[in-house]
Amino acid sequence: MTRRTKVVATLGPASNDEATINALIDAGLDVARIALAHGEVADHIACIELVRRLSKEKGRTIGILIDLPGPKVRAVAFPPEGVVLETDATVVFVPAEADESGRTASSAERIIVEHATLLDEIEVGDVIALGDGAVGLRVTEVDAESATANVVNGGRLQGRPGVNLPPARFSLTAPTAHDLALLDAVQGAGGGVDFVALSFVTSAQDIKLLRQAVGPDGPMLVAKIETTAAVDDLEAIIACSDAVMVARGDLGVRFPPEDVPHLQKRIIRQCVAFGRPVITATQMLESMIQAPVPTRAEVSDVANAVFDGTDAVMLSAETAIGHHPVAAVATMARVAERAEREANYVQWGGRLGRQQNTLMADATSNVRMTAAMTAAAWRAALDVDAAVIICCTRTGSTARSVARFRPTAPIVAMSPSPRTAGQLSLTWGVDAFSCNEYANVDEIVWYAVEEVFQMGIVTKGDIVAVLAGSPDDPEPVTDVLRLVRVR
Ligand code: PGA
Ligand code: MN
Repeated sequence: MTRRTKVVATLGPASNDEATINALIDAGLDVARIALAHGEVADHIACIELVRRLSKEKGRTIGILIDLPGPKVRAVAFPPEGVVLETDATVVFVPAEADESGRTASSAERIIVEHATLLDEIEVGDVIALGDGAVGLRVTEVDAESATANVVNGGRLQGRPGVNLPPARFSLTAPTAHDLALLDAVQGAGGGVDFVALSFVTSAQDIKLLRQAVGPDGPMLVAKIETTAAVDDLEAIIACSDAVMVARGDLGVRFPPEDVPHLQKRIIRQCVAFGRPVITATQMLESMIQAPVPTRAEVSDVANAVFDGTDAVMLSAETAIGHHPVAAVATMARVAERAEREANYVQWGGRLGRQQNTLMADATSNVRMTAAMTAAAWRAALDVDAAVIICCTRTGSTARSVARFRPTAPIVAMSPSPRTAGQLSLTWGVDAFSCNEYANVDEIVWYAVEEVFQMGIVTKGDIVAVLAGSPDDPEPVTDVLRLVRVR
C-alpha cells in the first residue's frame, strides 16, 4: 500500500491470457485498459470477464477501462511488409467508397482512406498527417475522385495508420454510431465496466451524449484530451467528465510536440483542482515494447508525470503488444513509487486550499460542503499526524475530493456500493474496500475504525481521521469529520 500513483496497462495479444494478467496484477496493475479500436468484440468481452475473475480470486480490486475509438479515420491496410513514403514523392488519396481498385491494400502511391466525405473536407494547402504524425503530406490538388498530395516529411507506414485530417472541416464527432454500438456490446461484460474513455472529444457536449448512452448510474466517463478543440474547451470538458486522459500521442499530432509537456502540466493541474482523476498516457516506456529495460528519458518522463501530480500513468503498446508486459508494469510501479518520495505533496495541498473556491464557481452546496470538509480533513490529518484518512463514501466522491490534496496519510475508502471500489482504482492514493450499510454516523465511524484496525493499517494509540455523511441524505454529502484515537 505504499505506492500512491495508479498504474493503467492496456491489455492485448501480448497480455490477455490468464498467466500474464495474474503476473501484471502482482507487478502492480491497478486498472486494465481495453482499446476497442483493435481486435474483436468477443475477445474484448472474454478479456473483461477474465480480469474480473482473476482479480476476484486474488482479492484485489482491478478497475476496467474500455476505450472507444471515436472518429478516428484510418487508411485501408498497407501490404504486410509496410511501405516507405519518400520526402517529395507524390501520393494520391482516394476515399474507400469511391475506390475501384478492389480495396485490397493501400500503397506508397495510392492511399485508400476509410472516410466517405474525405474529398469534401480537404482543400489545397491542407496538411494531412499519417500514423503517429511522423509522415506529413501537403494537398496540391482535389478533384471529384481523388486528392493529390506532396510528401513533406517522409517515413515508414504499416498496418492501418490513422489519417489526421484538418480539424476545421472535419465532419465526424465523438461518440460515433460505431462507438455507441461497441459500447452497447461490451459495457455489461463482467458485471459492468468501471470506466469508458472517449477518444477525440471536442466539446462537453460529446461527453453529455455519451452520458445519455450509459445512464446516470453507469461507468465513469473519461475524456481523452487529444484535439485542439478539447484544449480550448478544457474547463467545461473537465467539469462534465468523471476523469480525464492526457492522450499525448494524438495531442502531439494536433499540437507541436514541444507543446505537449506544458499541456500535460496544465491539464493535470486543472483536473486535480476539480477532483477529477487524470491519467498521463502514451509512449511512457515506449522502448520496452522491445527492450527489457527502459531508457533514462522514459524513467524521467514517468517520474515527471508524478511530480506534475498525475493520478495515474498508463502503458499502451508496451503491455498490449510488447515483449515485456510484466516488466513494463513493474518498472512503472517502481519508478512512480520512487518519485513519490521526492514530490512535495504538502506544498501542493496548501496551494490547492486557496484555489478551490474560485474554481468551484457553480458547484452545488453539497459539492461545496464536501470540498470544505475534505480540506479540513487534510489539514487536520497533517496537524495530528493521522495514521490514515478513512472516507465512508457511497459514490466515491468524498475519497476523490480528499485525494485532491495529495495527503501524506494513506486514504482508505469504504463503500457499501460494490461499484465504488472499482471506480476508485484510478484515484491517487486511495485504497477502496466494500463495507456493510450502517444506520447512522456513529455506527459508520465505529465500524470503519474497527475495520482498519483489523486490516492492520493502524495500531492502538494511532489517530484516525474519519469522513462520513448521513446515510439517509438523498444527495451525497460529507458533513462529518471525526478524529478518533484507536483504543
Ligand atoms: P490512443 O489514445 O492510444 O487510443 O490513440 C492515446 C493517445 O492518443 O495518446
Ligand atoms: Mn489517441
